[in-house]
Amino acid sequence: AYCNLEYDLDRGVRGVRSSHVEGLLTRLSGAEAAFVVTNNAGAVLLALSALARRRRVVISRTQLIEIGGGFRVPDVMAQSGARLVEIGATNRVHLADYAAALQEPAALVMRAHHSNFQIVGFSSETTLVDIAGMAHQAGAAVLDDLGSGALLDTAQFGLAHEPTVQESIAAGADLVCFSGDKLLGGPQAGILVGRKPLIERMKKHPLARALRADKLCLAALAATLEHYLRGTAEHSIPVWQMIAASPAALRDRAAAWQEGIQAGEVLPARSTVGGGSLPGETLPTFVLSLRTPRPDALVRRLRHYRPAIIARIEAESVLLDPRTVLAGQDEALVAGVSGCLGASRRS
Ligand SMILES: *Cc1c(COP(=O)(O)O)cnc(C)c1O
Repeated sequence: AYCNLEYDLDRGVRGVRSSHVEGLLTRLSGAEAAFVVTNNAGAVLLALSALARRRRVVISRTQLIEIGGGFRVPDVMAQSGARLVEIGATNRVHLADYAAALQEPAALVMRAHHSNFQIVGFSSETTLVDIAGMAHQAGAAVLDDLGSGALLDTAQFGLAHEPTVQESIAAGADLVCFSGDKLLGGPQAGILVGRKPLIERMKKHPLARALRADKLCLAALAATLEHYLRGTAEHSIPVWQMIAASPAALRDRAAAWQEGIQAGEVLPARSTVGGGSLPGETLPTFVLSLRTPRPDALVRRLRHYRPAIIARIEAESVLLDPRTVLAGQDEALVAGVSGCLGASRRS
């Protein structure tokens, strides 16, 4: 049906397509301005292209990351035409390294969140507050690529603290970019929030048109952001429902599956939080564990069931974790697993 994408209903003229989500984003993040593109890789490319072409961008060697799917910070930097200035060592960087690099003018100091790996042992990085202070003294802006960019604090759910967008803005980042579909829990999108003059320069860059978000993305993103504004994210956005699920509730669901399927055992296990964020982090859960002579054949049969059921194998057992099954899908799951188990008994 019709939806108002970029028509100004008040004035009766063409408006701005992303104005609605931009308002939500500035209210949630505390930033002056916002802009939405197709994905965060696009957001980084746009920021570097629009703000740092042929100019120096300072970044620590601890942060020259590969996210997967071909996204490598040094390669994106090269593509944008920005001049990479790497500082520090693989495991450590100090404020003095930033100070030395900023002796010469730079367009940006970039920070990239590790997202999907950890450096352990003899390692250290500089805080964003310190980086921002140093950069601003030298006349450079700070771009913080947060990757996941949570708006809620993961620590309140027993996970490691994932840096939030609000924290980066408060710490002095001039521009923060993050994904719409990682811990935000919305559609694929790249979200940029930060200082208005920088956002305006990006909006005017030719790449902005090439990377623009479509109306389905903007509608889904607005719906997602409204939950954060209303304080209903934890109860209404699937990724947060899953993270917030209590072990007791998960045990009850696994027990109900066991009763429905008439097979398996309810056992304590760990759920892994994935999606390129919170590496190594797990949450306590309860699973329905199915012992079968050929677990690989059963998981394959489950994958071919419609709707497909994705299980995992641990210690020769097939595990089903209620945490990742949406409320309202229990019946379909019980029917599917029962059917597949029956088929594997017959074959
Ligand atoms: C995931 C990630 C990206 C890419 O984001 P997409 O939305 O998947 O394009 C870029 N930078 C960091 C640090 C990331 O974690």
